[in-house]
Amino acid sequence: MSEKSSTSAANKISTYLMMIVLIVLALSIVALILSVNAFIVGNEIVAGYLMVLGFIAMAVAAYVLFQSRKRVASMKIEAPKVMTTIECRKCGIKNVREFKRGDFVFKDLEPCQKCDDKMIITAIYKEVKEKEKTYGV
Ligand SMILES: [Zn+2]
Repeated sequence: MSEKSSTSAANKISTYLMMIVLIVLALSIVALILSVNAFIVGNEIVAGYLMVLGFIAMAVAAYVLFQSRKRVASMKIEAPKVMTTIECRKCGIKNVREFKRGDFVFKDLEPCQKCDDKMIITAIYKEVKEKEKTYGV
């Protein structure tokens, strides 16, 4: 396993899912082996049940694996940043910074650098990331 550990949350989920997949896969193999044994012994009904069980378990494992790959792929898409716009009502100075915990619209903040009037938060919004355009280099 030489996967990068950059996205730890996604990795945690994928290792967790991988464990489930491996367990289910092992169970399905055990069920199939038991079914062959039962067939050799002559217990065809039990063999049939075990075979069905084994294949269902295998299908579940494959499904989970498929789903987890999809989820990990979608997790790599960056979550949009939440931005906070700060404005001074007096001189109209405008600042945009990342959203901080406790921010809300019309909240008073530190005084304005220019006129010392209190600045307020005028907007909180999610930054929709456009696909990066390349401006003629
Ligand atoms: Zn000001």
